[in-house]
Amino acid sequence: MKSLVVSLHDVSPLTQTLCENILAQLQELGIQQTSLLVIPNHHRRAPITENASFRSWLVRKVEAGHEPVLHGYFHQRQRQKTDSLLSRLTTETYTAGEGEFFDLSTDEASSRLRRGLEDLAFLPRNVVGFVAPAWLLGAAAEMAVREIGFWYTTRLSRFQSFRSAGDVRSRSLVWSTRAEWRAWTSLAWNRCLAIATARTRLIRIGIHPSDLGHAAVWRQVKQLVAAAMPGRDCVSYEKFLEIFRR
Ligand SMILES: [Zn+2]
Repeated sequence: MKSLVVSLHDVSPLTQTLCENILAQLQELGIQQTSLLVIPNHHRRAPITENASFRSWLVRKVEAGHEPVLHGYFHQRQRQKTDSLLSRLTTETYTAGEGEFFDLSTDEASSRLRRGLEDLAFLPRNVVGFVAPAWLLGAAAEMAVREIGFWYTTRLSRFQSFRSAGDVRSRSLVWSTRAEWRAWTSLAWNRCLAIATARTRLIRIGIHPSDLGHAAVWRQVKQLVAAAMPGRDCVSYEKFLEIFRR
């Protein structure tokens, strides 16, 4: 059986209302299970440890079958004086300074990951997946992710299992709405990518809360989710890993 994984990125108290709306619309399409990429303290101004209503909302989503995934800690990278042109291009032009795990040391990554897991310990189940903000996970930080015992991570172009199952090449559909030209480029690109990935074993659709605010982007997100569903298990990444290891 082929799979479709829909993931919702940047779930935090700052985006909770948009996320709720997105999940409701996905449910209308028949998507009952997604991977929710949760940020413990979004941009250092939305600590979930201090937000009881967000925590109980998230518990309800997890109890309904959605998978909680750790998604960075602050989702923000401190700019460094020594940044090379390539690092600046990668972390700022491409991701607007969100690449938090791009060049953390193993120790620093490890301490943020542990803190993130502690912050999510109120959930009724364990968190087994980690996805770096903007999928930028450096080699040193990846060591920390493995050492702590996460089961998997994802990159822009692959699903990466740490449980002896190997990797699955699969490029995620993802939209950018930061500027109008980016949104229109995303629409053209994702139309092509949807055709290219139509027969692959895993289709990944990555949604950001801001996608909902761009009418043409949101229309295409829903269209491509609906088109990918027939004949596929619509599951979380964790569930996909289980199917894939069988
Ligand atoms: Zn993100």
